[in-house]
Amino acid sequence: MIRASNKGKGVHRVKQFMENLLENRSTNEAFDFYVTCESCGEEYGNTVVRFSKAGMFPVTQSEKILWNALYEQEMRIARQTAVRNAAEQMNYCPICKRVVCNQCFVICDELDMCKHCAASLQQDGMPVLSDVVGTTV
Ligand SMILES: [Zn+2]
Ligand SMILES: [Zn+2]
Repeated sequence: MIRASNKGKGVHRVKQFMENLLENRSTNEAFDFYVTCESCGEEYGNTVVRFSKAGMFPVTQSEKILWNALYEQEMRIARQTAVRNAAEQMNYCPICKRVVCNQCFVICDELDMCKHCAASLQQDGMPVLSDVVGTTV
């Protein structure tokens, strides 16, 4: 039997880790933040958002100031979105202290942990994602 989805579990705690793990690949034209699963290396939360003034150039000094502020604001929003997206797909393993994706995480009886730790501690775990049950990841 598959246990009910643990959606929302520990998301706030995970978010803090996301902030620290978030990598920035942004350019002057677009914002690009992502988090890498420390187990499989897959990228999560990645949504490239184009800067609203991309491809245009400020002419006057006041335009420059305005655009800089706009850039910072849009970057902050893109960052938050990436953190939110990533947090839904990432989990914190209390054993090895890594942040891993749903594919690499299992729900165990005592303590939820990553697949790697579950294997080494001989814990039987259910995959987080019910739709990947039975498939090899
Ligand atoms: Zn993974
Ligand atoms: Zn682990």
